[in-house]
Amino acid sequence: MFKMKFDIVPRYLSGPSKRRPCIPMPGVRFMVAHDTGNPGSTAAGNVSYYERSRNETTASAHIFVDDQEIIECIPFLTGAAEKAYHVVYNVTTDNELYGCNSNDAAGGVELCYGPRLNLKEAYKRYVWVLAYACYRYGLNPATDITGHYILDPSRKTDPMNAFQLLGKTFEQFIADVVAEYQECTKGEAEEPMLNAGVANTVIDTWMSPAWKELDTKRQEAEQAGDGTAAAAYEQQANYVHWLANELRKASGQPLTK
Ligand SMILES: [Zn+2]
Repeated sequence: MFKMKFDIVPRYLSGPSKRRPCIPMPGVRFMVAHDTGNPGSTAAGNVSYYERSRNETTASAHIFVDDQEIIECIPFLTGAAEKAYHVVYNVTTDNELYGCNSNDAAGGVELCYGPRLNLKEAYKRYVWVLAYACYRYGLNPATDITGHYILDPSRKTDPMNAFQLLGKTFEQFIADVVAEYQECTKGEAEEPMLNAGVANTVIDTWMSPAWKELDTKRQEAEQAGDGTAAAAYEQQANYVHWLANELRKASGQPLTK
C-alpha cells in the first residue's frame, strides 16, 4: 500500500477532443516532469483553460499540481490511462532513453508556480504524485522520471523554471521523489518473490507470442513502407519486452536484451 497523503481530483477534459483524444495508453514506461511555464497560473485555472480550448490545440498533460490541489484532466491515476500530448513526437531522446515516444508511454505532470502560489507546498504534492505514479506503474523513481528540458532541450526549459525558484537541481528533485517513494511504501511487508516457473510460464505462453506477433507486424509494416505503423509496433514490442524483464527481475532471473 502506498500512503495516500493527498487527494487526486479527477476533472477530465471533454473528449474525444484535440487535447483529449481518448486513446488508451497500452502501457506506462516512464514519467515526464513539466512545469506550466506560466507563472501564477493555478491547477484549476490551467484545466479550465484546457477545457475551453480543447478543440483548438493538441497540447495536453495528465495532471496539474499547485499548492492546493492535484487535478487529473486526462485519466492516468484515477482512471484507465489515456494518451496526452505533452512532448512533441519528433524528438528522439525519449526513444533513445526508454524505447518509446513520451505521448504513447509516459505520464505528464505539470507543476504550477509563481506569484500567490506557495511553491514549497506545490512541490510537496508534485513529488508525492510522481512517487505514487511510479508505484502504480511499477517504475523505478531513480531512473524512470525525466524532464521535458532533457527530452527537448532546444525548445524547453521545464520543469527547471520552477525548480530554480526552489534552488533545486533535477538530480535533487529525483532524490526527493526516491525518498518520498520510500517513505510512502515504508512498513510494507516484504513482497513475496514470484516463483520463477510461474514467471516463465507467463512469459513463454503469453508474452513471447505477443512480442513475436508485434515484431512480425513491424516487419510487414516496414516492408510495406509504413514507417509510422512500424514504429508503433516496435514501441509496443519494447513494452512487452520490458514487462517480461520485470517478471524476470521479480523472480530472481537474469534479464534478456
Ligand atoms: Zn513541458
